[in-house]
Amino acid sequence: MDNEVHRGFETLAIHAGQEPDPATGAVVPPIYQVSTYKQDGIGGLRGGYEYSRSANPTRTALEVCLAEIEAGARGLAFASGLAAEDALIRTVCKPGDHVIIPNDAYGGTYRLFAKVAEPWGVSFDPVPLGDAAAVRAAIRPETKLIWVETPTNPLLGIADIAMLAGIAHDAGALLAVDNTFASPYLQRPLELGADVVVHSTTKYMGGHSDVVGGALIVADGGLGERLAFHQNAMGAVAGPFDAWLTLRGIKTLGVRMDRHCANAEKVVELLTRHPAVREVLYPGLPDHPGHEVAAKQMRAFGGMVSFRMDSEDAAVRVCERTKLFTLGESLGGVESLIEHPGRMTHASAAGSPLEVPGDLVRLSVGIEDADDLLRDLELALG
Ligand SMILES: *Cc1c(COP(=O)(O)O)cnc(C)c1O
Repeated sequence: MDNEVHRGFETLAIHAGQEPDPATGAVVPPIYQVSTYKQDGIGGLRGGYEYSRSANPTRTALEVCLAEIEAGARGLAFASGLAAEDALIRTVCKPGDHVIIPNDAYGGTYRLFAKVAEPWGVSFDPVPLGDAAAVRAAIRPETKLIWVETPTNPLLGIADIAMLAGIAHDAGALLAVDNTFASPYLQRPLELGADVVVHSTTKYMGGHSDVVGGALIVADGGLGERLAFHQNAMGAVAGPFDAWLTLRGIKTLGVRMDRHCANAEKVVELLTRHPAVREVLYPGLPDHPGHEVAAKQMRAFGGMVSFRMDSEDAAVRVCERTKLFTLGESLGGVESLIEHPGRMTHASAAGSPLEVPGDLVRLSVGIEDADDLLRDLELALG
């Protein structure tokens, strides 16, 4: 037996980047609510800090923790998930370049490509990422990035990260994976060959519906440096209190995810046998088209469940009838949420190739008492 302290996932989530404060012994990193730092003579920085857009100690603690729990070389914390996505696109692409995105990407990601990146000169194609031939056919000489989401929001589609990493690298492109739905507790894309992990830390990482944030984690330190340059030059950084809340959330990510997954499985069980529900979308179901890939690359199948009713009216009615499942956007918090993607989170994709079905309902299954959640759904479904 060696004497090294072993650092598994939950140990890293609680300790990485968060050694007790050398000055006071505080076991949690302080909220360094500060913009600037005294210099001991010009350029004489005590801890490497000069201005909090460039770096702030609370944000550094979060960035180190993010890198370690995603098994990356560098982590970067942003003001939101979309700010992180924007920094990634502008760092690895220039006008004239091309990107492949999932044909069921998160609506905000689609909007960023369609309304911001494309007018800037970066073209993109939505492609079904489960179809390797379609992905290869969409690659062009100027393709710089394949953008993956798995599971996808809100259709719970699954993409094979290792396979897509191979396709991207053969084409000289990078593979970015939006790991928001899985979290690094369930899936670590960099270990499967991805180059960049993207997070909306607003969701499972923060976990308590009290902070908006985003992150990028990269396998290569050189790319990390380029992204850090953009993070500072463009300035959409996470503030100290937001970074602190996110760090606090990450400490319990493992135990929360275990309960999210267990509760989601019970919800899926109820929905699959309910006569009012036409179809349940959950990668844990053996007949889900991505089930085998999900079983290979994920520890468990997550806390997000979508289902289709017989009509849009019926879907809207369920969303408005639950009492414990709160009608609201976002996901990944301890409290259960229900929403109608077509009219809410994914309204920005209406009329586009990424429009979602009107009869779709999305659940973010929280960690409340599972029996209470089942009863609430049963009553709402009628
Ligand atoms: C919410 C979300 C985003 C965007 O993150 P924000 O923090 O809202 O900017 C990106 N991807 C996925 C999968 C999301 O669910």
